[in-house]
Amino acid sequence: MTPALRARLLELAADPRTVDQIGNDPVRFVHRYPDPADQEIAGFFASALAFGRVSLFAPVIAAVLDRADALGGPSTWARTLDADAEHAALDGLYYRWTRASDLVVLAAALGDVQRSHGSLGALVRVGPDEPDVVPALSRLVLAVREAVVRHTGVPFDSAPRGLRYLLVDPAEGSSAKRVHLYARWMVRSDAVDRGVWSHVPPRSLLVPVDTHVHRIARLVGLTDRKAADLRTSREVTARLRALDAEDPVRFDFALAHVGISGGCRGQHVPAVCDACALQSLCSEGSAG
Ligand code: SF4
Repeated sequence: MTPALRARLLELAADPRTVDQIGNDPVRFVHRYPDPADQEIAGFFASALAFGRVSLFAPVIAAVLDRADALGGPSTWARTLDADAEHAALDGLYYRWTRASDLVVLAAALGDVQRSHGSLGALVRVGPDEPDVVPALSRLVLAVREAVVRHTGVPFDSAPRGLRYLLVDPAEGSSAKRVHLYARWMVRSDAVDRGVWSHVPPRSLLVPVDTHVHRIARLVGLTDRKAADLRTSREVTARLRALDAEDPVRFDFALAHVGISGGCRGQHVPAVCDACALQSLCSEGSAG
């Protein structure tokens, strides 16, 4: 990492985040609840459905949580779920390939795991020989998948696509951005992230890498890798650990903000790049 990039990222991450910065970020759904058990369930839904346009997925998350709130809150709802009643209550709700029936099965499975282990976070314990949080998050996802199999009666690979898409195993090699976003919300503790899993060290987290963050990371030299996959997520995070070994993911906000809120196109667009906080470091940032 160049000294200039190092200085700029430290500068961008220097100011503590405030709750005002949440805006439309799906983490706002976790902020609806003071109870950690509710935060775990709400956060799982909010992160799992956080793909595509926020204006389209946010109403679906809100509808699920409104229903949960009517029945005692996300944790109580999931743990005591009556599948037939929920199919009727959520009938017609969908987002892309995910149907109401997929959301009901996911809720029941999360409720099973939370009830039998005491919390979802109980499964997320980073072993001394594990490089980061990926194996622990994989154990959580696999436990939820097992519960899904019990509820559906079919192998997980035969479950509907809309359900499988909500349960990506981060150990399988993709960047699993939504899983790492969930982990960030649950592990880090500041005005935005909730710090529910205080037993998990923030140094074990990986940067949630999606196409936007991947593009910015390439433009400023945090990675040369062409695929937005697990190896890229580990590479970007390793470089950020050089800035803060205990909390490398705190720089994610600066990268994601440029990519999403700043409208980066990955090439020089004067109206966008001239206002970009990373322009002087970006290989595409200037016209010449
Ligand atoms: S300078 Fe332009 S191309 Fe480079 S990261 Fe910023 S918005 Fe994207």
